[in-house]
Amino acid sequence: MTKALELQNKVFGRLTVLKRVQNNNLGKSMWLCRCTCGNTIIVMGSDLTRGHTKSCGCILKELNTKIHTTHGSTQTRLHRIWSCMKHRCTNPKDVAYKYYGGKGISVCKEWSTDFSVFQQWALKNGYTANLSIDRIDNNKGYSPDNCRWSTTIEQALNKGNTKRYWYKGKHLTLKELSTKFNVKYDTLKRRIEARWSVTEAVETPAIPLKRLSKPKKIPLSFIYGGKKVSLYELEKILGFKKGVLRGRLLRGWDIKDAIKQDLQKRHKISNK
Ligand SMILES: [Zn+2]
Repeated sequence: MTKALELQNKVFGRLTVLKRVQNNNLGKSMWLCRCTCGNTIIVMGSDLTRGHTKSCGCILKELNTKIHTTHGSTQTRLHRIWSCMKHRCTNPKDVAYKYYGGKGISVCKEWSTDFSVFQQWALKNGYTANLSIDRIDNNKGYSPDNCRWSTTIEQALNKGNTKRYWYKGKHLTLKELSTKFNVKYDTLKRRIEARWSVTEAVETPAIPLKRLSKPKKIPLSFIYGGKKVSLYELEKILGFKKGVLRGRLLRGWDIKDAIKQDLQKRHKISNK
C-alpha cells in the first residue's frame, strides 16, 4: 500500500502517472498514465521505474513515421488526441474506458462527428504541442465549455482532490471509506494526514471522550436578605455578570468565597 502510492503524479519520460488501477494477473501494481501526446495508457509500475516505458508508444511511432512539417505533425497529434478521446469514451475495450465511457463521460456531438470542428476549437483556445486536453469539471464530458488545454501536471493536480485509497481490494475516496465502514470522515482525514495506514485509520475504534467526573451538583437557590432567590437572581442582585457565580460554584468554590472575590461588602448569605 505505502509503496504503491509513491508513483502518483510522478513523471516518466512523456508519461504522467494519474492513479493506481487494479493489479494485473500477476499481482503487479498497474498505473493509469497520461502521455504528453494525449493518449491514456495503463503501465506496470516496474516498467515505469526501470525506464522501460516512457511513452504510450508514440515515441516509437514518431521515429517510424517521418512527418516533419510543423503543420503536419500538429494536425497528426491533434487528430490522435481527438480519436483517443472518442475511443476511451465509447469503446469498452479501451483500457481507460471504465474511467470515461464507463462513468458516463462522453464527447459532445459537434466534436465527435467532425474532427475539423474540434481542431478549430483547439487552435482558437491555446492548443500547443506540449499540452493535453483537460476537463474542467471531471464529472462532465468533453465539450467546448468544459475543456481547456493544460499540462499533464496541472491535470494530475486537478484530480488530486479526489484521492483514493486501497482498502480490502477496493479503491475508495475518504468519503466512500467513511460511509462504507462507518468511520467519521473527520477522524479518517485526521488519521490519514497523520500518516496512519489506511487499515489503521479505518479499523482503530475511536476513543470515546470520557467525562472526567460527574457533573457537580450546585445549590440553585439561596436565602438572601431573608428571601429565597435563585442563583441567577443572586447574580443580578450582587451585580455579577450572568453565569459568573454559577461557574465558580461548578469549579467547587464555596458560595461565600464566590461572592467575596468581587465584593467589598460582606453579605449575609447561606445555602437554603
Ligand atoms: Zn504518447
